[in-house]
This record gives sequence, structure tokens and C-alpha cells, in this order.
Amino acid sequence: MTFLSEGLITKGVGGFYTAVSADGCAHTLRAQRKLRRQHLTPMVGDRVEFQPGAEGEEGWLVKILPRKNHLTRPPVANIDVALLVVAAASPDPDLILADRMLVAARQAGIRPIVAVNKADLDPEKASEILAAYRAAADGALLVSARTGEGVDALREALAGSVHALSGQSGAGKSSLINALYGLKLTTGQVSRIERGRHTTRHSELIALPGGGMVLDTPGFSLLESELIEPIHLKDYYPEFARYEGDCRFSPCAHASEPGCRVHEAVEDGRIDPGRHERYKQLFDEMTQRWKDRYD
Ligand code: GDP
Ligand code: ZN
Repeated sequence: MTFLSEGLITKGVGGFYTAVSADGCAHTLRAQRKLRRQHLTPMVGDRVEFQPGAEGEEGWLVKILPRKNHLTRPPVANIDVALLVVAAASPDPDLILADRMLVAARQAGIRPIVAVNKADLDPEKASEILAAYRAAADGALLVSARTGEGVDALREALAGSVHALSGQSGAGKSSLINALYGLKLTTGQVSRIERGRHTTRHSELIALPGGGMVLDTPGFSLLESELIEPIHLKDYYPEFARYEGDCRFSPCAHASEPGCRVHEAVEDGRIDPGRHERYKQLFDEMTQRWKDRYD
């Protein structure tokens, strides 16, 4: 009878995994052959059971505990919060990309928080974007990685969570993580596996003082939302929720139906018109994908 320890995978390179146990100790592990035979590949963020190694030796990773979610690019499991970084300017904000990421994050069961960065460059535009996303995300903040504005508040909003950053290239993810934690993101950095022909990017979860962890590689896999029946797309828009069931038609997609309460709310400014306009675009897209689903 051996006693297994429980830990969290923070890193995996060349078949060696680092698991951190509750007492904060780091253990180097190899996956048991049984796992490999079952094609169960441990991911950064996995909670696992393992048999610690004897002094100076690797231990064995025995079991991967059920994941609450996982992303594929970069591969990571059990993320609590996706920090969506949108720049107010330079690059011009791609808000439909932001909307897609919000939908995809919610589909994966990840809480989205929006950081409107580069507020120093265009404060007016930054406030505008903030207003549009306040009701859309589980938190929205104005920040500037350059001046430090809003960085403390953002750190507080993220405290205790396992989080990953995503957003347009150049939005300031790398700079923000540096401003938040004094860490350099390994964005774009490629490390070569010894003897290997191909290059791989290794993500690592970094433990933060006071609890919580941050993924050192920005995420890209939140781009594409999962295929769903178009009528359910609205369920990922929290700003529509209070009008649900009050429209003339039931169900109502809140797209172009007459007698739609969401439309009314857009008309009189209770819902951001841009968000709704882009929703209709995503709704049409999802409708097309749904039609093509057997092709
Ligand atoms: P990433 O691709 O999202 O990781 O973006 P980076 O962090 O590499 O930032 C892209 C560029 O924007 C860099 O030149 C940063 O110095 C700049 N930058 C990042 N945050 C801010 C900000 O808050 N204000 C201003 N003015 N520039 C910023
Ligand atoms: Zn409606």
C-alpha cells in the first residue's frame, strides 16, 4: 500500500512534470506507463495524484483528476479566469474578437475579465470600451501598463485565481503581466527541446504571492467558440438576461425579431449598441456554421 500525494502540474518539459503539493513542495514526476498507454497526457494546470520519488529521484504521476476545463493553445487545464486584454488604441481594438473570446471563455466555464489597456493613449476611447464591456464581462477595468493606472485594482480582481491572458497581439499582455507581477511573459519565445527537431513553447503556471497563479504564455485557443445551436448564443450575453422571456416571440434570438425587448433596450441605451450589432454578426455566423455542420 503506497500513499499518493496530490498536487498541481505547473510545468511539463520533455516528459518531466513538475507538481506542486499543498505544502508548496515541487516534485519532478514522470507519467506512469499506464497513463501513456491510455493516451492521457498531463497538462499544465492538471490536479494529479502522484507517488513522490525517493531522495533525488523522480516520482510517478499516477492519476489525472477530472478537469473542469482545458484549452489547447496553449495546452492548460483548470483555468478560473481569462483576462481579456483590449487596447484602447495602437492597435485599433478588434471588438468582435473580444466578443468571440468572451463567448468562448463562458462556453469553457472560464470567468472573463476585461482589461482595457493603454488608457493613457486615448482615455476617451478607453472609457467607451469600458462602458461597453462592464455588463458583458465579470469585471472590466481601465488600465495602463505604461503609467500603472488601474494595475493595483486589476491585481485585486485577479487575486486568488488561476488566470491566463489573451487578446490581440500588441494589446499589452506581456507589459501588463510585467506591471502586475514583475514577470516577463514568454510570449513568442521559443525554447528548443534538446535533440528534438521541432521547437515547442512551454507554458508554465507561476504561483503568485498571496495565492493564485498566472499562466506565463498568452492564450489563443479562446478565439473560436464552440458550435452551438444559434438560438443559444444569446445565453452568453449577460446583458440580455434580464429581458429574457419578455419578447413577443418565444424563444427570441434578439437578432431581428419584432417586439424584442433587447432591441428596445439597445434603442434607449440600456444595452451597448455595438455589442448588439456584433452579436447579430456572430449570430449570423453561428447560423451558417450550424447549417454547415454536417458538411
Ligand atoms: P502583447 O503582444 O499583447 O504581449 O503586447 P506587449 O506587451 O508586447 O505590448 C506591445 C507594445 O505596446 C509595447 O511597445 C508596449 O511597450 C506597449 N504598451 C503596452 N502597454 C501599454 C500602455 O498601457 N500604454 C502604452 N502607451 N503603451 C503600452
Ligand atoms: Zn428578443
